[in-house]
Amino acid sequence: MSIKKKIPILFTILVLLILIANNMHHFFRAKNSLLENYDREISLLAQQVSYQVENAKNGSQYVENIVGRELRTASIAIQNNLPPRHEDVTNEQLVALAKELNISHITLLAKTEDDIVGVKSSDPHEIGLSTKEWGYWYDAFQQLFARKPVTVEEGLTLKDYWSGPIEIASSNPDHTDKWGYYYDGTTNYIIDPYFRDNEILEYEERFGPTNIMEQVTNQLEGVLELTVFNPDSFGNEELEVHLNGNSFIRISEQPIWYGSYDYENTAKDQKYIQSALATNEVKSYNEIINGKDVRKAFVPINEQNDESYVIGFVYDNTMIDRELNKELKAYLFSSLVFMIVVLCFSFIFSNSITKPIARIVDHVNEIAQGKFGKMLTLNRKDELGHLVANVNELSRDLKTYVDDLKSSQEVIKFQAYHDPLTSLPNRRFIQEKLSDLINVANQNNHVIGVIFMDIDRFKHINDSMGHKTGDLLIKLISERIKELLTDYNCVVSRQGGDEFIILTENLSEEQVKEMTNKLILHVRKPFDLGEREIYVGSSCGISFYPHHTTNMDQLIINADMAMYAAKKQGGNRFVVYNPNESNVSLERIEIEASLRKAIEDEVLDVYYQPKMNAASGKIIGAEALVRWNDVKLGFVSPAVFIPIAEDSGLIQPLFEFVLRKAMIQMKEWNDLLDEKLTVSVNVSAVQFMEARNLVDCVKIKLNDTQFPPELLELEITESALLNNMSETIEALEEFNQLGVSISVDDFGTGYSSLSYLQKLPINTLKIDQSFIKSIGENGNNSEIAEGIINLARSLKLDIIAEGVEEEHQKQYLIRNGCHLMQGYLFSKPLEANEFHKLLVQNI
Ligand code: C2E
Ligand code: MG
Ligand code: MG
Repeated sequence: MSIKKKIPILFTILVLLILIANNMHHFFRAKNSLLENYDREISLLAQQVSYQVENAKNGSQYVENIVGRELRTASIAIQNNLPPRHEDVTNEQLVALAKELNISHITLLAKTEDDIVGVKSSDPHEIGLSTKEWGYWYDAFQQLFARKPVTVEEGLTLKDYWSGPIEIASSNPDHTDKWGYYYDGTTNYIIDPYFRDNEILEYEERFGPTNIMEQVTNQLEGVLELTVFNPDSFGNEELEVHLNGNSFIRISEQPIWYGSYDYENTAKDQKYIQSALATNEVKSYNEIINGKDVRKAFVPINEQNDESYVIGFVYDNTMIDRELNKELKAYLFSSLVFMIVVLCFSFIFSNSITKPIARIVDHVNEIAQGKFGKMLTLNRKDELGHLVANVNELSRDLKTYVDDLKSSQEVIKFQAYHDPLTSLPNRRFIQEKLSDLINVANQNNHVIGVIFMDIDRFKHINDSMGHKTGDLLIKLISERIKELLTDYNCVVSRQGGDEFIILTENLSEEQVKEMTNKLILHVRKPFDLGEREIYVGSSCGISFYPHHTTNMDQLIINADMAMYAAKKQGGNRFVVYNPNESNVSLERIEIEASLRKAIEDEVLDVYYQPKMNAASGKIIGAEALVRWNDVKLGFVSPAVFIPIAEDSGLIQPLFEFVLRKAMIQMKEWNDLLDEKLTVSVNVSAVQFMEARNLVDCVKIKLNDTQFPPELLELEITESALLNNMSETIEALEEFNQLGVSISVDDFGTGYSSLSYLQKLPINTLKIDQSFIKSIGENGNNSEIAEGIINLARSLKLDIIAEGVEEEHQKQYLIRNGCHLMQGYLFSKPLEANEFHKLLVQNI
């Protein structure tokens, strides 16, 4: 069940319980107070009734006394009309006299021996009536006869006269009489006139409390009966007197003085009457009497001077119930109204709680569904307001957390698929991409080109300039590649080191080749490394899908092999994979092993490239360049195996081989020439690590071959000058002393400072071919070449340009005072015989 329903139900149940408890409490309280009220009312009524009774009693006493006096007057009248002896009086005389005097009857009492007896009477029942048993009445008669004032407590005493209280006639208990007794000593009898029944009771009826009691009974709703009990006699059965052969209860002994006693319950009522009187408290009980549910209450009236009595009330209990029911109904109605109000209020209240809770729950559900960062506004300052603020905070935190997570996931994903240095996609990326491209290509018959690119002599650059510069250069190269490839539909990645793979999609084989060519040229442009510029070549291998293979891995291996082929051809070029050429991947170890063997077997060859005086067109010398055409590997470019030789310690034996062969060869040619030619041999930078060894070796070879040292030139790269400096300088100085010239090869690609160069015992600067190649037809891009020429001039060093391929380059160099040149324009490096032929021609 929802809280929204629970709260009103709970409230309602609670209120219902409270109301039931309250109603019950009120019901019983009301009942009690109603009863108390009734009892109080009864007390008041009783008081009122008691006044009436008292009044009536007093009134009737008064009337009775008047009647008593009236009877005395009548007695005197009777005496005057009768003879003094009763023996002379007739009953008839009495009847007539009574009639005349308007009296009910007249009796004459006379003394007998031990009694006072009715001797003559208008009432035949009275004749012969003994009074001996009559108690104080008899005492009163005796006192009258004795002519003493009557001293009995009851009745009215006057001179020679006494009037008894109204009493049942013992001669005839069906009647109630008021008697007067007169004796003044002139007669032998007491004159006894009396009023009977109505004549007496009329007063009682007219002035007594019965009327008032009836009025009260009729007027007061629910009062069924009102009774004035005589507590002395009520329920007491032995009160009957037996006089003159009759049985009756004396007036004063009547159990009920006034009112009726229809709802009889004598035994119980007697107990209550006694108890009420004893405690002087109202006593009441409920019972069903005469088939009616009644409540009886007994109110004691304790008269100080007079006799006490008890007033009994009989109430209709159903009326009390009716009252109570009425009360209950009123309560229930007000409760109902209250309940409705509570229900409404609790609905509003529960709504005010559950509605925002429902909103919060929805909000939290949304958060649980991942909708972070959503805010909920709830203008409350209570706990719910705090809760919403916290939930919002949580949502915000989760959003930040998830955003962070997403971005870090993106970073991780990026890192997983990208190269940290260049931010280019990495090997993993390219493999997945290639697989995707193959799927697309299969559906659309596209051609995929895989270009494997490797920077020429990057190791050399890295070693000589340091890794930092190497990294910077790789970054710049990657930007160059990206720059050019923006126009093409392709993806570029860095495989590691100086290797890049480019995938082309839906480009024809011709377009790919054209693009690769442009790429190599673009990479070939100078790179600005802050203080200096550098030129790099690159070798690219291309393989096509599905032309060369449909195997993804093989596709990359093919491109790699083609790249090696490009390297073998001197680098700075591209080669398309040719399945007929070699299926063998040229592994470094394989090359190293083969090279070692080639050196041992002396199967390496030395080619000679002429150095020209371009102004005169004369050959002035030759650069010895090693060539290796392996039986198994085929032609391998020095650009490929020289770095391997440098790494594997083979460079020194290789050098010795080339030096010896070149000196012997040149000596042979020089023997034929008038103007002797110089021979230049390349020395690797690593050889200066063991400078001593190098110097000794050169000395030995010079000695062995008897080659004039002044005709020997050693070409060392600029970077060699920078490593192991003191020893290098020492070695150079020794060479200098020997007369061996030193030429700084590939000059301009390193970073030699002017002051440093000045200190070195060097003879020639050899402008790197990249600066020559860049010289355009109208002399543009020639600044570096020009700068180097000027530098050489100022340092008083010889200058030679290598890599001269075009006539305009030659012309430019001549114009700028660089007459010595080397390059394809004059000749490629030639096999000894070929060079010999050239020499012959040149003489
Ligand atoms: P290097 O010493 O700068 O040699 C000149 C390179 O330029 C040679 O390449 C040569 O064939 C090439 N060349 C000459 N003129 C032109 C031209 O007009 N255009 C073009 N594109 N290239 C031209 P090669 O023989 O492939 O040698 C490459 C490098 O290998 C040499 O550069 C040198 O550093 C190294 N090397 C060659 N032989 C030896 C050697 O016996 N010992 C050592 N230590 N290094 C060698
Ligand atoms: Mg060289
Ligand atoms: Mg060079």
